[in-house]
Amino acid sequence: MVDSKRSTDEWQSLDRDHFLHPFTNYKELNAKGSRIINRAEGVYLWDTDGRQYLDGMSGLWCVNVGYGREELAEAAHRQMRELPYYNAFFQTAHPPAIDLAQRLGELAPGDLNQVFFTGSGSEANDTVVRTVRHYWSCLGQTDKKIIISRQNAYHGSTMAGASLGGMQFMHEQGGLPIPDITHIGQPYWFKEGRDEDPGEFGLRMAQELEETINKLGEHRVAAFIAEPIQGAGGVVIPPDTYWPEIKRICSHYQILLVVDEVICGFGRTGKWFGSNTYDLQPDLMPIAKGMSSGYLPIGGVMVSDRIARVLTEEGGEFAHGFTYSGHPVCCAVASANIDIIKRENIVETVASETGPYLQKRWRELGDHPLVGEARGIGFLGALELVADKKTMGTFDKPGETGLNCRENAFNNGLVMRAVGDTMIIAPPLVLGKSGIDELVTKARKSLDDTLAMTST
Ligand SMILES: *Cc1c(COP(=O)(O)O)cnc(C)c1O
Repeated sequence: MVDSKRSTDEWQSLDRDHFLHPFTNYKELNAKGSRIINRAEGVYLWDTDGRQYLDGMSGLWCVNVGYGREELAEAAHRQMRELPYYNAFFQTAHPPAIDLAQRLGELAPGDLNQVFFTGSGSEANDTVVRTVRHYWSCLGQTDKKIIISRQNAYHGSTMAGASLGGMQFMHEQGGLPIPDITHIGQPYWFKEGRDEDPGEFGLRMAQELEETINKLGEHRVAAFIAEPIQGAGGVVIPPDTYWPEIKRICSHYQILLVVDEVICGFGRTGKWFGSNTYDLQPDLMPIAKGMSSGYLPIGGVMVSDRIARVLTEEGGEFAHGFTYSGHPVCCAVASANIDIIKRENIVETVASETGPYLQKRWRELGDHPLVGEARGIGFLGALELVADKKTMGTFDKPGETGLNCRENAFNNGLVMRAVGDTMIIAPPLVLGKSGIDELVTKARKSLDDTLAMTST
């Protein structure tokens, strides 16, 4: 058992000595020491010094139903006692995986009726690369391998996930991307299109897909992958013209549409999936995060009937899989999580009540002197911090103001994330109106504190 009596200092020192954190500058962390979180309930976290935080990020965009759900602990406990592990290789299966697969087929848009289970979103996107290339080769189109993605996209951190992603700083460290992955522009109007009408900018960004297909040759392009809203890239909400044009292009050319729902899935945008919000019919749909509300690691790729049929009829053995594909305990918890979302009408509440309220209150922050734009949809929000509100001028040291604001938010009892100088939120979907008021008040106080630092 974990020794819960250690002091914060003791934890920090052990942490420094032994624990290499993900996405962390070790030198900076060691100079400062981690915040040690040891408890959570509802929408709140506590650290080992007893300080309370409103979790404006749902952990990492995943704790959709909030913390402290007995029902999920019960589901895990029950499944662990009954069948803690078995695999689905070599013609076996077990009830929790079959049950979850059926539920997902019912929830997912259109004819996405089959699922390949993984342990995470990154593994889901590795599975996308394998599936898409296998699919075309089953149809005799062995040259159709290239996957088009977007700059600043996030699709995970495995070699294929990071390659699909469009994060330059990740590519540089890993000798990435792997072959046959290419990136087009992103529909980030505030950063890249402000001198253009948003609608025209959205169209132009979508048409980069068509230009790239034509340049590379349709016979070589296997798929286009995109998040409905780029999350880790900074909550990039495309102009209204963007997705309809992408849909037109995808239906005109023989290429698969892969919609990465790892963040948008399970209610984040006020519908079950971002694909519902933007009226998309994906051929493949990676999911994870909110699928189990983060209580246990699980992900998957939803696959359309058309693709599943080809894999079944023509594919022979699919030489791909993970020891924990369809882990029974993770599946049982994911099913119980879906039960909660349905029973408590969480998606409907975000759509009709709390989502609109959060968006109204969040946009009020747009009047703050540091904020160039306040945007959002459903339970996602972003603030663009600017040095000069009139010219939308950026800061001399990019990223510093964002980090200061994140730090100030922590000190004010709110977890917000900084992507450069963009502040983002993705609160638990169970946050109520008074919690939203608290979030916005704390965010404003943090902006004030940050402004005070920049003007001295
Ligand atoms: C987080 C994320 C992933 C990767 O999921 P992991 O579970 O961290 O591997 C993939 N796609 C998107 C859109 C994500 O936000």
